[in-house]
Formats: sequence, structure tokens, C-alpha cells
Amino acid sequence: MPRSRPSLIIFDCDGVLVDSERISHLVLQQLLAERGVHIGFDEAVSRFMGSSMPHTLDVVRQMTGVPPEEFLPVFRDRTYEAFAERLEPVAGILAVLDDLAEPYCVASNGPRAKMELTLGRTGLLGRFLPGRLFSADDVANPKPAPDLFLHAAARMAVPPEACVVVEDTPTGVRAARAAGMWALGYCAMTPMDRLQAAGAHATFGSMSLLPALLASAGMPDQASSL
Ligand SMILES: [Mg+2]
Repeated sequence: MPRSRPSLIIFDCDGVLVDSERISHLVLQQLLAERGVHIGFDEAVSRFMGSSMPHTLDVVRQMTGVPPEEFLPVFRDRTYEAFAERLEPVAGILAVLDDLAEPYCVASNGPRAKMELTLGRTGLLGRFLPGRLFSADDVANPKPAPDLFLHAAARMAVPPEACVVVEDTPTGVRAARAAGMWALGYCAMTPMDRLQAAGAHATFGSMSLLPALLASAGMPDQASSL
């Protein structure tokens, strides 16, 4: 049923709160180059963005011959080193959070330890503690299953239909729709059409546009792309 305001905003973490997708794809591009496979940053994003880690490792093996058990620890170490050096909040997200009237939380497909690291590094962790930090570690099935978003909504005592999810990958948008929630797709790195095809009610390319979309979320005639 349409309503004028959402009761809970659920943010994805990587690529929505913290600018980690850019860094992790740069690291991946660099590790591939060190193993003789040279691809551009845009190609790295289009090939790997939103992929599960097992799928990413399979593709890396096809491209380089390096097995997952050898590649994963190096990728993880180098990514975390880069996070520690230069991870920043997503441009404009601090202003969005500062002005948000509704309760909000974070729900990430990544491990809890990674979320605590990236949110801590960017000064955002305190906004989600205590009790507003949800990880795929908490549920049986990660996104695109609805489990994580339903778990977050239940813990926040808000019905799914009163929740708005902010996501940057088709996987996350599909999970939000499967949970019966309103899905907003941030398309700074992911192509807009992929988020729309996954079922995003609206897409946006700049965080400065998010407050207006949150204000109109749930109104069927407001589904749009900005
Ligand atoms: Mg993401």
C-alpha cells in the first residue's frame, strides 16, 4: 500500500556507504596485471561488480590460471591494506545521513569484520552501533535471497513494506524486491539499466538526489530515474 514516508532506510555498505568498490576493483585490476592479464578499470568493474567471491575467483582462475586458494589471501590482504590507506565514505553520503529523519541501518553481504573495518575507517561505524549493523553472517542465505533484509527489518521492528533499501548492485536490488521492500538503485558505478532490470523502483547517480527519492518512496507514480 502506498505511504507518504518510509519507516526504515536500509543501506547496503560497499559502494553505498563506503567507496570500497572502486578500491577493490583497482586492486583486482592490479593483481591481474601482475599475473600478466591487463584489463581496464571499466572492464574490471563490468566483469566483477556484484559477483560473489567464489564466482570472482573462478573467473580469475580462468584468466590467470591461479587457483582460488592462492589468489584469495593475496586479494584480501592487498584490499584491506588499501582500505586502511585510502578508504573514504561515498561522496555525499554524510550529508544524507545527517539530514535523515527516519531510522536507518546497514545490511551487507560482506562479513561483519569487513563492515566494522570499512565503517570504522571512514568514521561511520558509530552511526550504526549498537544494533543497526546486519551482515550476511547473521542469516542462512545472502543476497539476492531476502533473508538479510527481512532479518534487519524484524530486528528494527518495522514491517518489510515500510522499508526502503538503498543498493548499488543488481544482486542487492533483487534481494530488496524479494523482501517486498522499495528498492533505490545507486548507479555511480553499476550501469543504470542493470539496476532497473533487477527491479529498482528508481535509480540515481548522485547522493544529492537521494533525499528526494526517499521522500517519495512508496508512491507508485514516483518510480523514476534521475
Ligand atoms: Mg554494494
